[in-house]
Amino acid sequence: MTQARLASCIPLPLEHKLLVTVIEKAKDWALMHGVGMRDRKHFTKDAIQIAPFVLLPSPFPRTEFNKAIELQPILNELMHKVAHDDEFLEHTLQNTLQVDEFTAKLYDIWVKVREEGITQPISLGMLRSDIMLESRCPHTENQCAKHTPYCSWKQVEINSIASGFGHLGPVSREIQSYILRQMGHGDLIKNMPENRALSGLCSGIIEAYDLFGVPSAVVLFVVEEVSYNICDQRFHEFEISETRPDIMIHRKTLNEIYEETTLNDKKQLILEGKPVAVVYYRSGYEPAQYPSSREWDARLRVERSSAIKCPSIHYQLAGTKKVQQALAAPGVLEKFVAGSATERVRDIFTGLYSLDFDESGERAVEMALEDAERFVLKPQREGGGNNLYGADVRDALLRMRRARERAAYVLMERILPPTVAGYVVRPGAAVPPPITDLVSELGIFGVIIGTRDKIYCNRQAGHMLRTKLAEANEGGVAAGLGALDSPYLV
Ligand code: ADP
Ligand code: MG
Ligand code: MG
Repeated sequence: MTQARLASCIPLPLEHKLLVTVIEKAKDWALMHGVGMRDRKHFTKDAIQIAPFVLLPSPFPRTEFNKAIELQPILNELMHKVAHDDEFLEHTLQNTLQVDEFTAKLYDIWVKVREEGITQPISLGMLRSDIMLESRCPHTENQCAKHTPYCSWKQVEINSIASGFGHLGPVSREIQSYILRQMGHGDLIKNMPENRALSGLCSGIIEAYDLFGVPSAVVLFVVEEVSYNICDQRFHEFEISETRPDIMIHRKTLNEIYEETTLNDKKQLILEGKPVAVVYYRSGYEPAQYPSSREWDARLRVERSSAIKCPSIHYQLAGTKKVQQALAAPGVLEKFVAGSATERVRDIFTGLYSLDFDESGERAVEMALEDAERFVLKPQREGGGNNLYGADVRDALLRMRRARERAAYVLMERILPPTVAGYVVRPGAAVPPPITDLVSELGIFGVIIGTRDKIYCNRQAGHMLRTKLAEANEGGVAAGLGALDSPYLV
């Protein structure tokens, strides 16, 4: 089957001279507005390199975009309820915990803080639900019966920790608007939805700070040893600093937190003599970020403290792929979502299967071995580059057929988005770039603050679009595969 196609917002190809001129302008715009990352190959803190970006905004159907925006508060509340359902988390993760050391360590911290008594009942969730248009229609087994190149969208995953691109999302709209204006197509900008992700996410941190309610308190960003995606992180700091000059922000690695923080008798996390009001994790989601027991001790200390965590550890557990798979199983959503919303949420799930050693797990293995191309095999990991596709799914399942390790994975139906032709501008690459076939993944941000019983705020908070070559399996921008983009509503 050939992949369905969407039309680009301007007919391509663009004339050579125009293309070269506009890319030169756009690269400078990028560097001067923080559309950048640090160079992985020649790392220096003294320079920023352009982040790869798609020259023109990629088409996205308006009705599907609106549907995603409207659904986000329901997904926020779903995640909030799941994170607070101890029994559900325990039951869902029990097999995974036996074979996945990383998830088990996170879980152990959760058990420990619960046993000691939770010091801070308020959690800050800054979520990002990632979705792709599905070009295959489950009802017709081919092109959608609506005769559109897509059927609807499906959720790839929902992120509950370090959901990035609050800055790079909105600024992608700005750079593409600039490009359209430079090409004499400024009239098209009206089809690019406004995007207030940066202020939306930062106001979540500020609201949590105010709920903490201690005037001299500080905010702590937990960062990697080296932050390649530095613009995205720093712009959050700049935004908060501008909106609320009274809030001081620190950036610390887990190792620095181990060395430089203490818990006082009120269980306040003390950094440089001040209590920490909010801890915002931009690191801590993958095993390599905990190279020793010091990082795990630091994480435990933070979780024990009265700081409001984004995310609290139970939120991180609720964001695992295993939980996503469990929610897609028949009859489970009803526990968390009421009324007609249940159908709306169910509709966004594509096939998700457990690989536990039971009847349904065995069936899933058989199904995947029969047609591996139809599936993605996912471990309990974040940050991209961990999934298996196509022939690798088959090889892995044959290897793990009788190995307990299998339970650490979930099997997911592969989504096949429609393609669109476009130009991707990359640092160091020849100008002009070739026209390539691309596919996009839209992320919708959500902010939710609450305790087990009370929700203080729950809203949708902007979006980001990432686009990759149609034939690539994954499209992480920080990982160097994808490119920044923004939706052009059609
Ligand atoms: P991570 O938490 O590492 O980002 P994801 O579930 O988002 O894990 O998978 C990483 C990438 O793999 C996605 O951004 C997407 O490009 C691709 N991917 C994941 N699941 C699917 C799927 N079911 N169909 C198609 N592509 C997928
Ligand atoms: Mg993720
Ligand atoms: Mg992802």
